[in-house]
Amino acid sequence: MNFSRQLLSWYNANKRSLPWRTTRDPYRVWLSEIIMQQTRIEQGLPYYEKFVQAWPCVEDLAAADEQEVLKCWQGLGYYSRARNLHETAGQIVKLYDGRFPGTYESLKSLKGVGDYTAAAIASIVFDLPTPVVDGNVIRFLTRVYGITAPVDIQATKNQILGIALQNIDHRHPGDFNQAMMEFGALVCTPANPGCRDCIFSSDCQALARGLVGSIPARSPKLPVRQRFMHYLVLTFTKGNKLYIYLNKRTGNDIWKNLYDFPQMEAPAGTAAGTPLNEAVLRRSFILDHAEFEGSSSPYTHILTHQKIQARFYRFHSGNKIELPYLAVPLNELTSYPIPRLIERYLIESAILSTPRHPPS
Ligand code: SF4
Repeated sequence: MNFSRQLLSWYNANKRSLPWRTTRDPYRVWLSEIIMQQTRIEQGLPYYEKFVQAWPCVEDLAAADEQEVLKCWQGLGYYSRARNLHETAGQIVKLYDGRFPGTYESLKSLKGVGDYTAAAIASIVFDLPTPVVDGNVIRFLTRVYGITAPVDIQATKNQILGIALQNIDHRHPGDFNQAMMEFGALVCTPANPGCRDCIFSSDCQALARGLVGSIPARSPKLPVRQRFMHYLVLTFTKGNKLYIYLNKRTGNDIWKNLYDFPQMEAPAGTAAGTPLNEAVLRRSFILDHAEFEGSSSPYTHILTHQKIQARFYRFHSGNKIELPYLAVPLNELTSYPIPRLIERYLIESAILSTPRHPPS
């Protein structure tokens, strides 16, 4: 079969119309690739549009405040990608005078730009024959070529890259790469692939051998780390205003540079799923004069390799309590970048929409 010719003609007839497919502006292609990693197109598209509107070129993004970038990213998860995005914009302005470098290797030297993104930009913008291998491509190629080895081991990855390299269309490498990803996303899907009408059905090894459901194969999963977080939601009144304490997350852990509440994490292996009682909270956070207003039901939040169970304990004080956290006016809380878990709590507890009335 002429694999690439068949694929390109399918792509030209079936591709979805997406804003980054009508441009060869490296900034926009890069932005779309970073946003769409591990994100469905329907979910990522509004973020792409928000970013382009807020920062139409790389110089604008470089000049933005990191907090604004994290805020715009809020809800997409994987916040290190947003931090890298911002840092890389600065790198491009500083080192390359605002112009994206035009080779695969120099693209890869940018922060947050790995094999996949460098190959996508190199092929789509600079017409270089660098194959892109994402989850869609892996699924599609392993099925067509009947590869049964786990796809998360390096030898299989190399094999898949070799197949993509052999097949890439040198005259239209960008379209070829996008066609592979699009075919995996629309036809050779994880569940219920469209084998019946598939243009590759007569050559597909997985279909011929009855292995479509078991390819791509993966190595056994890593254990998921269980974490139990107890959050102090402490408000206080000062003058005519209500304040709340926030905790800026630093260090090498999830949600770096985002804000959550003062928190206690139960050590692994303890009976940590049970709620803390009021006395323990008062002792731990030195809350002598604050009034306890109740605790939330447990919240479960799933991250890659982590399962977080959180509870929120609400206290209010008539005066400021000296704590090593950031006190912010409650009505300014939404301008801080926060993890999805905290956002869920704020919405479900209605803390922002039904605040107590400060004394007049
Ligand atoms: S026949 Fe089915 S499994 Fe094979 S490439 Fe087509 S959609 Fe994928």
